[in-house]
Amino acid sequence: MHVPYYDLSTIHKELLDEFHVQFSSIVQANSFILGPSVEAFEKEFARFCGVKSCAGVACGLDAISLALAAAGIEANDEVIVPAHTYIATWLAVSTLGAKIVPVDACPKTMNIDVNQIESKITKKTKAIVPVHMYGQMCEMDTISALAKKYNLIIIEDFAQAQGAKFKNMPAGSIGDVNGTSFYPGKNLGALGDAGAVTSHSEKLIEKVKALRNYGSSEKYVHEQKGVNSRLDSIQATFLSIKLKHLMAWNEERRTIAQLYRHLLKDVPELTFQASTSDYENVYHLFVIRSQSRDELKAYLSKKGITTLIHYPIATFDQKAYQELNFTKKDFPIASSIAKEALSLPIYPGLNHTQMEYVCEAIQAFFKSKS
Ligand SMILES: *Cc1c(COP(=O)(O)O)cnc(C)c1O
Repeated sequence: MHVPYYDLSTIHKELLDEFHVQFSSIVQANSFILGPSVEAFEKEFARFCGVKSCAGVACGLDAISLALAAAGIEANDEVIVPAHTYIATWLAVSTLGAKIVPVDACPKTMNIDVNQIESKITKKTKAIVPVHMYGQMCEMDTISALAKKYNLIIIEDFAQAQGAKFKNMPAGSIGDVNGTSFYPGKNLGALGDAGAVTSHSEKLIEKVKALRNYGSSEKYVHEQKGVNSRLDSIQATFLSIKLKHLMAWNEERRTIAQLYRHLLKDVPELTFQASTSDYENVYHLFVIRSQSRDELKAYLSKKGITTLIHYPIATFDQKAYQELNFTKKDFPIASSIAKEALSLPIYPGLNHTQMEYVCEAIQAFFKSKS
């Protein structure tokens, strides 16, 4: 049997006719960037996230950096970020010349350790960027209380958590201004690069809309230095089609995750992302942790099962950030996640037989070791 890590063909097969209709209408309209289809998607996605306003942008990295810029983050401001995240979160802060202040992960949830945030706050701290790893939201009540106490801006990176909830609050609706990615492999993915910024503040979204379009809200009038980070009309139509299915796809991911948790619960060498009933997860990834991760990955690969590592090198350990001079001792949890984490196949369309095959292979691996 072959189990790919990810396969979009099942969900895309059923949408292909709708994609074609939209493609033809965009070509006939002769309008390819921003425009009515982007505005329609922005409204739909804002409603989905439970916010007033949304701006479509070119990718997730831009979504976070434009959110930070709209919130007024400038060079030399300090911004608190998780040590364990995809590098894009850090790069968004770097783009503005702001100072990265990483906080280690919680060993149980693998999200930012909320108990370590307060000690990192200084007079220069302006914002916190919580990242909802794997589709489980951070402890946003504690983070919101800290932000209130120290007058900090919250910018959620919810690239991995579209549709997730914490205490019934949707991802992308708690921070002041938030960014997400529609990279094809995300829970809601375009057929190319795309991203969005969400906020309750229409004013902040207007700022993002100007920044994404060369700093201009009126054609050829530039109030500030912006960038080109516009969303394509065609991608917006694809996203509108796919958004209608996101809830169902997330539900399917939850069913898969529950089955994984159930079938693997007796394997003592494994740990999972800890969760409670406060969280409604959307399982962008299903991550297990094991001391014998590399050996397990190779074993599964021989059995035809593709797994991935998110991420094999922690961001602070990347050459790109060597100037910050962090070592593994600074972030012991993020370091151990980089050594132990393994992402199992999870996507809408993954069938029961494939999942059971994956679990049997994992059990067989640990049996052969003991
Ligand atoms: C995917 C991802 C991003 C970046 O999104 P792009 O669209 O690839 O720029 C940012 N943050 C997190 C946590 C992600 O998973």
